Amino acid sequence: MAFLQIVEPGLSTAPHQHRFAVGIDLGTTNSLVATVRSGSAETLPDASGSHLLPSVVRYFADQPPQVGQKARDSAGDDPLNTIASIKRLMGRGRCDVRRTGSHLPYEFAGCEEGMAVLKTAAGEVSPVAVSAEVLKVLKDRAESALGGELVGVVITVPAYFDDAQRQATKDAAYLAGLKVLRLLNEPTAAAVAYGLDRGSEGVHAIYDLGGGTFDISILHLHHGVFEVMATGGDSALGGDDMDHAIAEWILVQSGVGDGGDHHLVRQVLEMARIAKEELTTQASAPLQLTLPNGAVWQEALTRATFDSLIDPLVTRTLHACQRTLRDAGLSPVEVKNVVLVGGATRVPRVRARVAELFGREPIADLDPDRVVALGAAIQADILVGNKPADEMLLLDVIPLSLGIETMGGLVEKVIPRNTTIPVARSQDFTTFKDGQTAMVIRVLQGERELVRDCRSLARFELRGIPPLVAGAARIRVTFQVDADGLLNVSAQELSTGVRSSVQVKPSYGLTEAEVEQMLRDSLDHAREDVDVRNLREQQVEADRVLESLAHALSADAALLSASERNVIDAAAAEVARLRHGTDHRAIHGVLEQLERVSQEFAARRMNRSIQKVLTGHRLTEFSEGI
Ligand code: ADP
Ligand code: MG
Repeated sequence: MAFLQIVEPGLSTAPHQHRFAVGIDLGTTNSLVATVRSGSAETLPDASGSHLLPSVVRYFADQPPQVGQKARDSAGDDPLNTIASIKRLMGRGRCDVRRTGSHLPYEFAGCEEGMAVLKTAAGEVSPVAVSAEVLKVLKDRAESALGGELVGVVITVPAYFDDAQRQATKDAAYLAGLKVLRLLNEPTAAAVAYGLDRGSEGVHAIYDLGGGTFDISILHLHHGVFEVMATGGDSALGGDDMDHAIAEWILVQSGVGDGGDHHLVRQVLEMARIAKEELTTQASAPLQLTLPNGAVWQEALTRATFDSLIDPLVTRTLHACQRTLRDAGLSPVEVKNVVLVGGATRVPRVRARVAELFGREPIADLDPDRVVALGAAIQADILVGNKPADEMLLLDVIPLSLGIETMGGLVEKVIPRNTTIPVARSQDFTTFKDGQTAMVIRVLQGERELVRDCRSLARFELRGIPPLVAGAARIRVTFQVDADGLLNVSAQELSTGVRSSVQVKPSYGLTEAEVEQMLRDSLDHAREDVDVRNLREQQVEADRVLESLAHALSADAALLSASERNVIDAAAAEVARLRHGTDHRAIHGVLEQLERVSQEFAARRMNRSIQKVLTGHRLTEFSEGI
């Protein structure tokens, strides 16, 4: 079964064997693979020593596709068969592509049902297949560097990727022969690379400026779990736009204008990219261009000029940051750390303006174009169990539902099984009795409807609930499962804020076979469980109604005539009788009957209590201020 990945290296008696796992940053512009060796994460280079693999694939009619730098270099000569930025089309239907991908130079098959497909010399290829080519190269690279087969990979995806985009990424990995341990959000990977998950709780902003995309993510670290509070950005803004800004400037300065041919423009763009990267460390970059008329144009691009060329682009990223912070209900000063990710954040002007916006120096000690892959590698290493025993229990998804006991011995599921972790869910509950000031919270695991058929994980009490009428108190129960499968359950009374909590490792001690058995039981007993649940619910309702009726009658019997009282008593007796039977519909029926006959009584009580309130005060109090 695919739903469970329990890794328990601590229980293994075999000598410890290192299990190779890698993290992959499958980027729009560049991709990388990283692993943890002797305790620290590092990206793996290819034979020529370069770590970044351009995410570009060139297809041929009669030979296998070419991936990486060579493919990127040939993009100008063979644009229709050279596929770049395929990440933009992952998980997109054909019609979506018509809308969002119209600026891409490729030929698309028609707008019908199904996934987008590109026409190449090698036939039609899907975005999944193109991504798989990139992944295969990284897989080979990792296996030859590590000298063995990979146990699994963690692949990163943008935080805003939807289910279809995530599934497409998994499909690509499958096609490349990789086992995906988990998909990880890129901003979370960056935060993990910096060890922020081990730091104090708070809000972190991840500013990711890549080649053609800008993403800003606001993460909240709580109990070691990152929650994505808000994401924003611009899917058509990145380092490549800086190249374009420089290229335009060169074309104007050199007098070529927009009369330059396609080939010349590509050449100028490449020159612009090199100049941009040089300006990261140098105050000026030399430019030289042979013009169509044969003359040679020479000029230096200074940092100051470059800064003014790119300022409008940087401003756009900052506006997106402000919008996203506003979505999260935060101001820039509330952000504890700003992490820089993406090659284009090397640009000093970008760093300076980000620092200015947030009022603090951003974190950028690691290589910004490697940080996502490094975080993914750390996560992969933990997932395959190359960690001490105290971090041993790792779950990809929750194998069995988690819930709490409610009245009648019933289980209310708070997190359904198969939910991916980390996860946090809340649900509100209330008191059953008037004046109830304490509550027992019993945490259960399993698919069955009754407490007795589920596994009890923990039990704790919430005290100090203010005494109110039944059903008036609001108790919020929050279940939170962190990335290591550790469950934290807390209960809080919302008006006073009193709270109490407990921590458990929910799957501890359960083997895969036991989990399967529990699931099989739940299927075998599904019908019967629903019946029992319905009955228990009606019984609980009957008890509640009878109890509150008894209370009302003892307080306000004077409001009823003898004959009215008889009708109510008869209906109540019927409820009490059927409550012990097994027919939930019958109980429901008599409960409705009882409600009908006591409606008038309830209305009189209501009027009376309003009168009581009024007579307790002088009338002027109420007219004051009117
Ligand atoms: P993506 O996440 O889109 O795959 P990357 O994070 O690899 O992209 O960023 C690629 C961008 O970073 C390119 O525009 C590249 O020119 C730019 N870049 C790389 N190195 C530098 C540098 N030293 N100075 C400025 N920009 C750089
Ligand atoms: Mg990236």
